[in-house]
Amino acid sequence: MNKIAVYPGSFDPVTKGHIDILKRATSIFSKVIIAVVVNPNKKSRFTVEKRVELIKKSIGDLPGVEVDSFSGLLVDYVKMKNGVAIIRGLRAVSDFEYEFQMAHTNKKLAPNVETVFIAADNRYTFISSNVIKEVSSLGGDVSDLVPNCVLKELTEE
Ligand code: ADP
Repeated sequence: MNKIAVYPGSFDPVTKGHIDILKRATSIFSKVIIAVVVNPNKKSRFTVEKRVELIKKSIGDLPGVEVDSFSGLLVDYVKMKNGVAIIRGLRAVSDFEYEFQMAHTNKKLAPNVETVFIAADNRYTFISSNVIKEVSSLGGDVSDLVPNCVLKELTEE
């Protein structure tokens, strides 16, 4: 059966933690759409186009993945794409409260769309795009934590 899932997020920029979740999701679903959320109210380091480009470069020819961006309600986008699930990554208890609230809100809006949480790999539980940006701006080495194209982008600026 063709089961499509959407993995939404800011991905500002994409990290190895995100890629790990994406790969795990592709082993469960026939297609995973990784989608950058367009949110003009959220300050971001990279443009939506650049974030999409960096995801595409990071995944290479990983099968079963589509890269996209969207604005508006997530559940509307999921339905438009014929998706059955929303993928979210969980790193620590601190992620839980917000994710729980979002999952229930989305369930209320779209009862047939399931939120599927995937546990982060041990190697990446402590990383977030914000930590990456901060550490690299102060000259710290993040080469183990982000794809090469992201590293290049962070160090070139
Ligand atoms: P958002 O602004 O929607 O939280 P992010 O790009 O920060 O966007 O995160 C997108 C998703 O990826 C979220 O579900 C988040 O919990 C998950 N995620 C972020 N960093 C990691 C990581 N290091 N390991 C696993 N999942 C992660």
